[in-house]
Amino acid sequence: MADGLKVRFWGVRGSISCSGAEYARYGGNTSCLEVTGGGRRLIFDAGTGIRPLGLELARQTPVDIDIYFTHTHLDHISGLTFFSPLFGKDNSVRLWAGHLEPPYHLKQVVSKLMQAPLYPVSMEVFQARVEFTEFQSGGKLSCGEMAMRTAPLNHPNGATGYRVDFRGKSICYITDTEQRGGGPDPIIVELCRDADIMIYDSSYTDEEYPRYRGWGHSTWQEGVRVANAAGVGTLVIFHHDPSHDDAFMDGVAREAALARPGTARSGLPRALVAHEGLTLSP
Ligand SMILES: [Zn+2]
Ligand SMILES: [Zn+2]
Repeated sequence: MADGLKVRFWGVRGSISCSGAEYARYGGNTSCLEVTGGGRRLIFDAGTGIRPLGLELARQTPVDIDIYFTHTHLDHISGLTFFSPLFGKDNSVRLWAGHLEPPYHLKQVVSKLMQAPLYPVSMEVFQARVEFTEFQSGGKLSCGEMAMRTAPLNHPNGATGYRVDFRGKSICYITDTEQRGGGPDPIIVELCRDADIMIYDSSYTDEEYPRYRGWGHSTWQEGVRVANAAGVGTLVIFHHDPSHDDAFMDGVAREAALARPGTARSGLPRALVAHEGLTLSP
């Protein structure tokens, strides 16, 4: 594993996975990121993109890994039961969430996902050692040398935004969230201040947004405004709506490059659109 901070995108789609030739280039799997640095590996969200990541990890045993959920809507959790390291008895998987409030708990949410008549087997099929940890969005976490900060996002049932700092580089993961109105969300701006990379919920365009107000998602243009307000190096457009095929996303990429031209101090473009398999090192 390379030593510096790095993020790899395994799933970039929002709401529901989609297949078909028109999604071949950006990808149809739902949210899953892999962040590595200093020999540690963090996974963010367990959308359908976590399945191929699990297959790659399963080649190396034992797997000892942390999965941080932004929240537990299905597009961020439905791949979990297909994450093959959960079925290896020498593996340890720690699951983290910061958005749940009583009476909800992470273990109970996963157990409900694997309950008749929704799912054929229960959590007892997991052979790995599985731990569930809840925290309150807004606090700090750490994993090895990687320092993490979190913040509450504006989303139905709650969601957590994350910032990872490692050896002077930083990556923020901000999905799912909706603008609160009256300018860039100060909570997100504060969390992402001067970050090298901000991965942002860009489900809609500003033109589409009025039809989806209150659904808990944002626009790529709001991503530009937040990134500018926070002095973010690179905005990464993420959580693509299933109605946005490759041709549409090419258009977004062109417009975003005009809205934030040039390169950041990391050498990365100041705006880009996430696709499956994309790897970024700030
Ligand atoms: Zn989502
Ligand atoms: Zn959601």
